Amino acid sequence: MDWDKEATEIVEAIPLPPMISHFARMDAERRAKKKGEKRVTAETARETEHGYEQALGKEAVELMRKMARGEDAGLPDEFFVDEPEELYSIELCPAKFGASTMEKREQMRLLLTPLRKKLKELDITGIIMDKAQTSIMSHHMLRIGLTGCPNACFSPYFQDLAILGVYHVGIKDTGCVQCGKCVTYCSARAISLNEQGPVIDFKKCIKCSGCVEQCEEGVFYTKEKGYKVAIGGAGTRHPRIAQTVAEYTDLEGVLKILEKAITLLRDTPVEGRVISFHEIVDRYGIEAFRI
Ligand code: SF4
Ligand code: SF4
Repeated sequence: MDWDKEATEIVEAIPLPPMISHFARMDAERRAKKKGEKRVTAETARETEHGYEQALGKEAVELMRKMARGEDAGLPDEFFVDEPEELYSIELCPAKFGASTMEKREQMRLLLTPLRKKLKELDITGIIMDKAQTSIMSHHMLRIGLTGCPNACFSPYFQDLAILGVYHVGIKDTGCVQCGKCVTYCSARAISLNEQGPVIDFKKCIKCSGCVEQCEEGVFYTKEKGYKVAIGGAGTRHPRIAQTVAEYTDLEGVLKILEKAITLLRDTPVEGRVISFHEIVDRYGIEAFRI
């Protein structure tokens, strides 16, 4: 597809986290194609830009614009710790690079130092080294996925341990201008509008807090925040999806679940070649990890 020069400039300047930045061109071409056009124009490029602004939210877009200008975005140092001497890895969601909100980054940041401390205290690296039956390879590592919210962009459910920030959302009595943005945004289809304002069906709500970010009138607010924890996922030879241990817990709860899992792993004799959480979930059942 052909591109106008201005369209290229607009799309290349859209502030996106590195793992999705190459999608912007594809998205612009998708939009042009839908309009029956063979060329990406500046108008379509602006629609692309607006689409990402809506999807990521204003706060994230502003932050990434700041980063693109070379300004300090204040991303937490805890997100960029390298631990090559350890046999665990903690993968973070795109919030690491400025996507998502400060609230979600903070929920991740708060957990990282205590989580690393606990992993070292329980000596997960030593346990894995003792149990390994072959040369240490990447599949021996304990893999943890930490996301700012349950939208779970990078599939933490395929990791040994998935930890996801979750948020109980409240609604103010006043302020709704009936724009419908929250209804359109909520992919869980949990929001409806009545004359007084929005109503949340909490059976459907996944606690992502996206509505808090999307509503420009500040009608939604975060009442409480915590973590969802799932265990026993694997993205290797025998792929598995982690099972939920806790829908909602606090930082201490996450560490207690981790301690239970590592203790079980440590005390279970090795059978076969691989040692990982999904094997102890199979052996003891998910109930053994609940707190
Ligand atoms: S709650 Fe906010 S986003 Fe939803 S309709 Fe009202 S003003 Fe719009
Ligand atoms: S937190 Fe808000 S946007 Fe997220 S699922 Fe619940 S109602 Fe929908």
